[in-house]
Amino acid sequence: MKKRKYIFVVGGVMSGVGKGISSSSIGAIMKSKGFKVTALKIDPYINIDAGTMNPTEHGEVFVLRDGDECDQDMGNYERFLNTNLTRSNYMTTGRVYQEVIRKERNLEYKGKNVEVVPDIPREVIRRIKNAAHDADADVTIVEVGGTIGEYQNIIFLEAARMLKIEHPKDVAFVMVSYLPTPSTIGEMKTKPTQYAARTLNGVGIQADIIIARSSEPLDSKRKEKIGVFCNVLTKNIISAPDAGSIYDIPVNFEKDHLGDHLSEILGLPKRKTDLTEWTGFVNKKKNVKREVNIAVVGKYFDSGDFVLSDVYISVIEAIKFSSYYAGAKPNISFLNSKDFEKDKLKLATLKNYDGVIVPGGFGESGVDGIVETIRFVRENKIPYLGICYGMQLLVIEYARNVLGWKDANTREINPKSSKLVVDIMHDQKTKLEKSDYGNSMRLGDYAAVLKDGTIVRKAYGEKEIVERHRHRYEVNPEYVAELESKGLVFSGKSKDGTLCEIAELPTSKHPFFVGVQFHPEFLARPLNPHKLFSAFIKASIKKA
Ligand code: GLN
Repeated sequence: MKKRKYIFVVGGVMSGVGKGISSSSIGAIMKSKGFKVTALKIDPYINIDAGTMNPTEHGEVFVLRDGDECDQDMGNYERFLNTNLTRSNYMTTGRVYQEVIRKERNLEYKGKNVEVVPDIPREVIRRIKNAAHDADADVTIVEVGGTIGEYQNIIFLEAARMLKIEHPKDVAFVMVSYLPTPSTIGEMKTKPTQYAARTLNGVGIQADIIIARSSEPLDSKRKEKIGVFCNVLTKNIISAPDAGSIYDIPVNFEKDHLGDHLSEILGLPKRKTDLTEWTGFVNKKKNVKREVNIAVVGKYFDSGDFVLSDVYISVIEAIKFSSYYAGAKPNISFLNSKDFEKDKLKLATLKNYDGVIVPGGFGESGVDGIVETIRFVRENKIPYLGICYGMQLLVIEYARNVLGWKDANTREINPKSSKLVVDIMHDQKTKLEKSDYGNSMRLGDYAAVLKDGTIVRKAYGEKEIVERHRHRYEVNPEYVAELESKGLVFSGKSKDGTLCEIAELPTSKHPFFVGVQFHPEFLARPLNPHKLFSAFIKASIKKA
């Protein structure tokens, strides 16, 4: 049997310093050495998944091909590893307890006491090994959410410790820490990292590698100091200064030979890191020759005085990849649709953009502003890509303003509308009646058949596509014929022909006016930009 290796990535000092990107970058590096790599995220919260969380609080809900609704870090893993992950790559406290309780009720513990320790960490380990096995991975990266010293993730660190005892030569610990440079002192301080390393020692874990995040690169004095006080070889202290782009980070880590050090610690065969493909992408980004101005009009941007773009992170990355490959630097603006409701004259500012995207969303707030946006870009022939809600609202806008059905709406907003052009899906109805909200939408991979001679057929270059979904409502088939008779083309349908997956206008009427019921952004990768985004960006550049 193949020897599987595990790399645990934990966070010291504070959150938000890039544990997810560090994990993803380690993955990219190890993969480039020719190892089979998979990655797991552990989220310490009780929620079974991220599906029921408020986007303004939690950020984007990422959807895997099997329909798992999970943390946005999973998106980074898929993008950096250029791979598809599954439900077994994601775990929350809730999932772990749910399974242990299920087994207990099933008498699977054969009448013995079921205890937090060791039964919970054992379930955590079972899941980690299971994910490694599913992917047949040589190297499995496990990111433990939260920060060392928090009450919430102790049980996961306990699992990591137990796995290390079981397989001493196959487990490595990476601590991603932060070194502040207080402006009043002007010197980079190592003490918080020292405390974090000790706190980690307190739960029986010794870091093998410390990724030292800071505003500037680490000098040798700082490296030596951290090494001595944290009990880590100086060469295993990796300097990780702020980077211009997250995609520079694998390359930055390799300046300190992170991949070789990890291989040595884990007893992996010595292999060269080959980031040629990766740097190829990074260079595309650096060699852009022009600019393209894209507006993302959404409803989840307001968070106090801050603009929150985390909610649409995959959309933003998808725009970037396609723009870089088209030789353009994207200037992405985040426009709050609610501002257009307060002041309709502001709609005219949309003329400053080469393309407009309306991403997914739920509920009533901000929707009028979005419908006005879609009308404006349709009438002014500004390239438009509507995603999920952005597609449903495209159909509503068309029904209202072209077919003159002023009352047209989605059941989500007005169930009493006389023209429900977007309605609840049949099998979603009973779920809502039972308040069954968790993991109950139409989720994950579904195929669509594309109509010949359309924008999407040309963009994809294929007759049949598979994309990821997350929705409860759909275009009402009752009105499709009437909408089509007035020029809207349903250019993608589910294989059985019942569900409308794509709506568009012919290029004779509009340069690029496309709405898709699925989320193409979840399949956009730095080494594999998404064809639909690329077509949209191309149309936007043309307009520019
Ligand atoms: N609210 C819509 C639905 O449930 C769209 C969902 C989305 O944009 N992800 O169908």
